[in-house]
This record gives sequence, C-alpha cells and structure tokens, in this order.
Amino acid sequence: MAKVAKAVRGMNDILPEEAHQWQFFERTVQDWLAMYGYRSIRTPIVEHTDLFVRSIGEVTDIVEKEMYSFVDHLNNDRLALRPEGTASCVRAVIEHNLLYEGPQRLSYSGAMFRHERPQKGRYRQFHQVGVEALGYSGPDIDVELIVMCARLWQMLGITGLRLEIGTLGSMESRALHRAKLIKYFEQNVKHLDEDASRRLHTNPLRILDSKNPKMQSVIEQAPRLIDDLDEASRIHFETLQFMLREQDVQFEINLRLVRGLDYYNRTVFEWVTDRLGAQSTVCAGGRYDGLIEQIGGKPAPACGFAMGVERLLALVHQCGKEIMPPIPDAYIVHQGKQAMSFAWKTAELLREAGCQVILHCGGGGFKSQMKKADVSGARYAIIIGDDEALAGEVTLKPLRVATDQTRIDLHAIGDLIKT
Ligand code: ATP
Ligand code: MG
Repeated sequence: MAKVAKAVRGMNDILPEEAHQWQFFERTVQDWLAMYGYRSIRTPIVEHTDLFVRSIGEVTDIVEKEMYSFVDHLNNDRLALRPEGTASCVRAVIEHNLLYEGPQRLSYSGAMFRHERPQKGRYRQFHQVGVEALGYSGPDIDVELIVMCARLWQMLGITGLRLEIGTLGSMESRALHRAKLIKYFEQNVKHLDEDASRRLHTNPLRILDSKNPKMQSVIEQAPRLIDDLDEASRIHFETLQFMLREQDVQFEINLRLVRGLDYYNRTVFEWVTDRLGAQSTVCAGGRYDGLIEQIGGKPAPACGFAMGVERLLALVHQCGKEIMPPIPDAYIVHQGKQAMSFAWKTAELLREAGCQVILHCGGGGFKSQMKKADVSGARYAIIIGDDEALAGEVTLKPLRVATDQTRIDLHAIGDLIKT
C-alpha cells in the first residue's frame, strides 16, 4: 500500500462538519463590515520578506522565529508567507495610491502563517479577519473600531470578553522610555533570561511582553511609559477613555500592554477571554501612525485590529451558540428509466424556485434510497416512479412530521415545499 499522505503539522483541514460554522462566521462578518462601511481588500499570500521585516520589526518573535521566509530559487527573490495582514494592506494602499481619494476604511480576511509550536488555539496556518482605518488620526476612529468589535461579539453570540486598552505614546516618548528601560534592565541584567538579554539593546520594550514567570517581578518594577507620556498622546488616551465611557463600553487599562509588532504607537487594545486557556487573546490592534511613511508612503495616521478566527469560533462554541448546518428542502428518490429523466427535471425546477434539493445518484431500490433521504435531514422526500413520470406528477412525503404522502402535479410542489 502506498504511504498515506498527511497535511503539514499545524495546518488544519476544515471538514464539512465544521465548515458551516466558518460560513456562518463569514456571513456575519460580511454583514457587520457592511454595517460600518468597511470595504474589502484582497492581497497576495506571498510578499517580499523585506516588507514584513521593515514593518513588523527585525527584532520581534514573528520576524525572528515565526515567519516562513524562503528564497524563490527560480529568480532568487526573498519571499515570505504573510504572518499578518496589516503590512500587506498598507503596502497595497501605498502602491495603488488609495489615500489620494481620502481616508479609507478597509478590511481583509484569510490565512496567515507563523512557525509556532502547534497547540490548541495556536496553529501554523491560521485565519484572521482584519480591519484597517487609514488616514484617520483618531481617537474617534479608535473608538469606532472598538465599538465595532463589541457589536460583532454580540452578533456572534459571544459573551464575557474583556477589553484591555493601553497607550504606547509617540515615537519620542517611546524613545525616552526605551532609554530608561535599557538603563533599568542593564542594572537588573542578572534577572533576565537569554531572550531578554539579547534584546536588551535592540528591543527592550519586547522584554515587557515576556511570558517567563521568573522575569515577572523585574518586569513589574520596570519604568512605566505612562510616566513619560507626551502631552498629545495623554490627551488622545484620555479622550479615548471618555468616548468609550460615553458609548457604555467597559474596559480595563493595562499599562503593560505591549503588542508583538513594532509598528504600534498610542492606542493599543486587546479583547481577552478566560474561556480558552492560555490562548486568551482573540482580537488585538491599535494605532500605527508611522507605518505608512516607514514603508514608503506619504505620512498618514492609521489604526486597525486583527482577530483570530479559530479562537473566535472556539469561543462561539463555548458560549453555547448552536449553528445549524443548512437543511435540504427535499431529497428526490427515483426508480425507472423515465423516472430518472423526470427526477432531473423536477430537481432543476425546484432549484429554480429557490429550493435546496438533493437528487439521489447511484441507483438502488426505493427502500435504501428512502433511508438516504432520511439521513440527509431533508424535510421532504419526493418519490418518482415511471407511473408518476408518465402522469407528470410526483409523490411528496413529509419526513419530519407524521403526515401522509400526497401525489401532486410537478408544477405545484415548489410552492408547497417552500411554505
Ligand atoms: P499571541 O499573543 O496569542 O501569540 P499575537 O499577539 O501574536 O497573539 P497578533 O499578531 O496580534 O497575535 O494577531 C491577532 C490575533 O490573531 C490574535 O489575537 C489571535 O487571536 C490570532 N493569532 C495569532 N497567532 C495565531 C496562531 N498561531 N494561531 C491561531 N491564532 C493566532
Ligand atoms: Mg504570537
């Protein structure tokens, strides 16, 4: 026997059993984006590696350890599977000069790739829906994005999410804070693990993001950015809080919120759950006012977020929402030569009337076909033998209620089934 082919570790199949839940999610997201006037943008899965290095940052987990980058040996291009969507979206916006027409409310969705240790809620191919508002300086748009998330949770039937917000200040206040952090960590270098020591001079902010329990106390006592916050960022952060309160959005301030990507400034936020174990963040985002300029565009402010579809679907399930697969209206069973041709006609006629119809294929007796009709979950069986075909009629048998079967004219069943 030939060796059984297997999928790549950490990259999952979404089987039909589960796919209808994804479809429910996708439909809900589409309705939701339309409600807020966000238009869709679709970018390639593969980009130049350099785009992600320049935007996400060279000294980040994503770029250092998680990115699938490779050389295309056919022309020696250095390429990468996208680990996130913002960089690609911003690249496309710059390349096609979309901001020339004014600020843009955009959204994307699709597969992202990170070489992480696969576990529940953490995969090597996973899916994100992202929302980006480009050309807006906020904080009104920051609030819109957050309010919008809250609306989606409601539409998906998700409860119990906590919103954490923080601020990273301006580039200048970050630089000041960075210098203070380096000094502080230099003085406490014996408490740092290998990763942190290595990043001490390249990306000290990232040390604050460490999950190492042994480093938590040294992190706790590190200088806080909020103490060096510039005036404009302070006002931005306070206005954001004021507006959130006005919209009745509950939040917690987390001054240690550091995102895993370098491009953020000012507002950062995460939606967190206690229901999914260690993989607790389902949606995260913030402002990235410097990114557009950084990758070659005319300076423009922006803000956005991305959510993890796998984690959100797990949460939808945990919250007890049952998403039913679509139920066929009718299953057509047929036997006989004329019956078969008539069955095809019947099926197409019903489909034209907007019904979901399964036409039995593969032959077999009435009894075994009726079993299949039952298993299909269809509301009706439509039974066609040669005598029905000759009369231009079908036998309609309700499968979910105890009502007798009736014989009716072909052209009358569409209306009957739909009611
Ligand atoms: P984490 O701290 O869990 O690693 P992150 O900060 O790396 O998350 P982001 O880059 O902000 O995540 O991505 C936004 C969202 O995408 C996350 O909140 C999460 O829901 C989802 N996500 C990120 N990485 C993965 C992954 N490997 N598998 C599944 N979902 C993921
Ligand atoms: Mg991560």
